[in-house]
Amino acid sequence: MRGVAAVNKIRSMARAFLANPQLLFVKPSINTFMCSYMNKFRARTVGRNLIVHSHLPPLNSKAYSRFVDRHLIARTSGPSHAQIGVTNLCPQNCDYCYNKNRSGRVIDSETIIRIAKELKESGVVWLGLTGGEPLLNKDLAKIVESVSEDCAVKLFTTGCTLTPRLAIDLKSAGLFSVSVSLDHWNEATHDAGRKYKGAFKEAMRAIDTFRNLGGIDVGVSAVLTREMIRTDQTEKFLDFLDTLSVHEAWLSEVKPTTKEFWDDRLVITEEDRLKLVRLQDRYNSGQRMTVNYLGHFEGKENFGCNAGNKMVYIDAFGEVSPCVFAPMSFGSVYETNIRQILGEMRRRFHSDLKCFVNKNYRIFEKHSNGERVFGKESSLKIMDEVDFGELSAFFRLYYAGGRNREAAWEQPSARRITEPA
Ligand code: SF4
Repeated sequence: MRGVAAVNKIRSMARAFLANPQLLFVKPSINTFMCSYMNKFRARTVGRNLIVHSHLPPLNSKAYSRFVDRHLIARTSGPSHAQIGVTNLCPQNCDYCYNKNRSGRVIDSETIIRIAKELKESGVVWLGLTGGEPLLNKDLAKIVESVSEDCAVKLFTTGCTLTPRLAIDLKSAGLFSVSVSLDHWNEATHDAGRKYKGAFKEAMRAIDTFRNLGGIDVGVSAVLTREMIRTDQTEKFLDFLDTLSVHEAWLSEVKPTTKEFWDDRLVITEEDRLKLVRLQDRYNSGQRMTVNYLGHFEGKENFGCNAGNKMVYIDAFGEVSPCVFAPMSFGSVYETNIRQILGEMRRRFHSDLKCFVNKNYRIFEKHSNGERVFGKESSLKIMDEVDFGELSAFFRLYYAGGRNREAAWEQPSARRITEPA
């Protein structure tokens, strides 16, 4: 079995290389890093796509080619990943929802499409569509289609209101991956956490609809509580998810985004994170679904936290945040050009070893003063108190050893950074 797995891995790497011959021009240390990172996962073919996991574009896609050109070779300073809240409407009401306190004038689909294209021009190769419940945006397929040619588009949904017709339209529009939310194997527990009776059944129905359609990478996104991690419930949950025949379990943990979660007893520690990383690695060494833990991708041993730098979030009201979980705005797409906002954020947000939100929520608390999502003025004050730490393993290579990291934010292209001797 191991021999077969090894051959498959070599085949996948060869396919990725044939689709992206320019990999030859990537710095050898970065290429080596990417190969060893990907080696932890079993690449799979879904439709025409060769997928490592759904937080990266398919390896044989135009989006991945752009990732190689713009980020691995040119090392441009623009974001590679973005999320857009395409609506704030949602029939469910999760305790931990990161959008709970956001409000304003909802952005229309035309603006969403314009912003998605501008993000792509700024370097975005992976776009997550979220909400609210994104399926409630009647132009969802049109939004997907507007950028999917060379940008990997992923949908995060509760599954509520999905119809087979809409699933077909999303597939035709070029959606490469969907994650349906599921927080527990127990129906009553899942429904209670979302204050919506029937949430579990709707999620199951949506998973079935996408699975039966074929050609789309289908996953479950699960938000784990610290208690679940510490009481070893995650493993039982994963075994349950594996019975659903999904391609991937996308795991993250409850973040201290809202006031109710600014509590040391709820935020995970480094030991909790490592526990999930070990579980992910153990799971992925078998022949089952892929487990993709965000805290592994964003861990110090890999890409670290890139909120406001390589990652950006535009909420359903057009406010630009460093990440879905950061309750901050650095401007509105109604008032300021998105490139200008991205540039301003990038000057303040440096790549870091640790999750920006987990690390700094006490500063949020200090400045909260009744404000639940910080406007630009408060966000700037918060940033005056934030310290950034070391670079993650990948970004030490990316920024040429870290010596010139500060300069990197001021440069239009990291190409100009002095390479280590
Ligand atoms: S703040 Fe946390 S969740 Fe957001 S990009 Fe950074 S690591 Fe990820």
